[in-house]
Amino acid sequence: TYTSAVDEQLLERLRGGVRGDIVEPGDPDYDEARKVYNAMHDKRPAVIVRAADAGDVIATVDFAREQRLPLAVRGGSHSVPGYGTCDDGVVLDLGRMRGIRVAPDARTAWVEGGCTWADVNHATYTFGLATTGGIVSTTGVGGLTTGGGMGYLDRRCGLACDNLVSVDLVTADGTFLTCTEEQHADLMWAVRGGGGNFGVVTSFAYRLHPVADILGGPTFYPLDGDVIRRYRELIADSDEKLGAVLVVGLGPPLPFLPERWHGRPICGVVTCWTGPEDQDDEIRARLAGLGPVVGQQVGRMPYPLINTLFDELVPAGLYHYWKGTFSHGLPDGAIDAYVDYGATTPSLQSVTVVFPIDGACHRVGPEDTAFSYRDTDFSTALSPTLTTRQDCEAQKDWVRGFFAALQPYSAEGGYVNFMDGDDQHRVRANYRGNYARLRDIKRRYDPGNLFRLNHNVAP
Ligand code: FAD
Repeated sequence: TYTSAVDEQLLERLRGGVRGDIVEPGDPDYDEARKVYNAMHDKRPAVIVRAADAGDVIATVDFAREQRLPLAVRGGSHSVPGYGTCDDGVVLDLGRMRGIRVAPDARTAWVEGGCTWADVNHATYTFGLATTGGIVSTTGVGGLTTGGGMGYLDRRCGLACDNLVSVDLVTADGTFLTCTEEQHADLMWAVRGGGGNFGVVTSFAYRLHPVADILGGPTFYPLDGDVIRRYRELIADSDEKLGAVLVVGLGPPLPFLPERWHGRPICGVVTCWTGPEDQDDEIRARLAGLGPVVGQQVGRMPYPLINTLFDELVPAGLYHYWKGTFSHGLPDGAIDAYVDYGATTPSLQSVTVVFPIDGACHRVGPEDTAFSYRDTDFSTALSPTLTTRQDCEAQKDWVRGFFAALQPYSAEGGYVNFMDGDDQHRVRANYRGNYARLRDIKRRYDPGNLFRLNHNVAP
């Protein structure tokens, strides 16, 4: 059971004990500090701790546990269900913990828990190295990695969680543990897909790969099932060094897309080719062969840049409601749904994104990490994104219809990171054969379910 009363004495102790700062109702920056990315969530926490280090994280976890206050852990704040905030509880905001140390010889980066992918990509690019991260640079490493983590590099390098070498974790009783495959291996296994259920990661150590400049950018086509079928072939027979997400939605008002396509249904492929430059022309030819190209901007660019292409389209403060699915291949029935529902996409920002997760993601077994979808080939994010709450509410039926149309062609369960709060009942299905093991680990390390504002594995 939770209380909503904050003990003044304990709060005073917390104020004295943390190096970061504490924001409370009435403080001038309270309204800014309580905001999360998805504007659907307008909550009023009792205390917001902007942690400066692992010591602050431990102090905050202890404070919330001792007082039985709800605890929201916030990394990059992109959680669509708004798990980075809560009413009347404690928000542990890691957004000041942004330090990164890169060891180029060891091809490893130690990344503090509040970093975004922009931070990581910038720090590792200097050394001609990269690891799998998300396709929007403002997304946090914290939620993305602990949920699995898909991006342009996953076919070549695996998911973000597959590249973890170790994590520093603060568990519910305030213990600080460095977890690896040898040490606290159960927790290491659980944070690779099990989300924020097991503790707060203060630092992630990632394996890095030699990726510097890439051939990338979008190619747009009319929305047509044949284009998507050819995209399916492209993924099936191309080198894993080709990252290529399929996008379905409305034509964005970009200078290289003729005006008559602005706001009209289109599909597109955003590529990130990390292979040799002398094969660039071949990649361009493959893209040209997918269908009638209506606009294209594909060129050599630094790897960090390809991960910023969507940033401007989806700034913080819009209204989101998401759903997610996995599929074995891209069945024709699913392609029909992309075309049917894509044609009625409610806004420019509501881009449906299909991530290929074959290649290196398949070389990890379904039970090797908490993320179990190693047998599926694509993961789809359905993400109506609107500029007002009312418009977003009004589009929930659109996305529910789209999701239902995809169901016959989808694996059971879905990706926790693409799900909204009303999909909590799917958590068990999402973890498939790994659920029982996750629950056992949860019972051992968080029997009181302190970390429950997440896709919750209840103890
Ligand atoms: P937050 O809201 O800060 O955190 C979400 C939850 O993660 C927290 O409530 C907590 O439970 C947990 N958490 C966060 N930090 C930590 C930590 N340090 N230790 C322990 N637990 C923590 N997903 C992909 O896989 N690939 C993508 O390309 C991708 N693109 C996206 C683009 C946008 C615009 C958005 C909104 C989401 C995207 N996602 C993507 C989904 C994304 O992975 C999830 O929304 C994820 O939860 C975001 O993490 P965050 O740290 O930014 O969010």
